[in-house]
Amino acid sequence: MYWHDLTFKEIEEKINDKLLVILPIGSVEEHGYHLPLNSDSAQAIYVSEEIAKKCNSLILPPIYYGYTELKDYKGTISIRYSTLYNLVFDILSKVVDDGVKNILIISGHASSIHMAAIRDAANEIVEKEPVKIMFLSDYDIAYELRSKLVPANDSHAGIIETSRMMAIRPDLVKKDFKFTYNGKGKFMVISNYSSIYPEGTLSDPNGSSPELGRKINEYVVEKLWEMVKENFNL
Ligand SMILES: [Zn+2]
Repeated sequence: MYWHDLTFKEIEEKINDKLLVILPIGSVEEHGYHLPLNSDSAQAIYVSEEIAKKCNSLILPPIYYGYTELKDYKGTISIRYSTLYNLVFDILSKVVDDGVKNILIISGHASSIHMAAIRDAANEIVEKEPVKIMFLSDYDIAYELRSKLVPANDSHAGIIETSRMMAIRPDLVKKDFKFTYNGKGKFMVISNYSSIYPEGTLSDPNGSSPELGRKINEYVVEKLWEMVKENFNL
């Protein structure tokens, strides 16, 4: 159930010490020739909806934008660290003011600057308020499957992400799997990723399938649900 589909009176009735509120965060970012710009949001929203079903939680309006380094590809829209920090801080502040005590933030995008902005905002809140906040990327869990179900170097728009999207939004996945890497740019701070990854894929998506995607999604939801039960007193 979505927070923004309810009336203020319904929210008033719903809020109690056991309510879990989930904030999905994505990134408007290129994902190769075959995946849509909203891939990260779609995955975070999917996971949020699966967790919400299990404990009757409320999902906040998703944040579709995030901070991304892949700015030189057409269509990618990155917001600044300060914008993301302020946005997350303002949303959390109001939800906490309203009496929410348990918050789960799931980011479908996991770049370190993006994650730091959100963590920074969440830290600020927990330092002042008696509230529990859990924050992770669903990729913190999905990447546990590297070297098991998928190659160790699986990455952005690779097999895990493509397979998950094939299971979540098959209507948005194209068959145009492309990947080349010229081996350059290791450890470089660069603004032109497209010169190193012209196809926008950071690993090879070949080998992706909806079955694999369903398996990965189940793994992510199950693992996350275990941690939610462990960390919150719902
Ligand atoms: Zn992604």
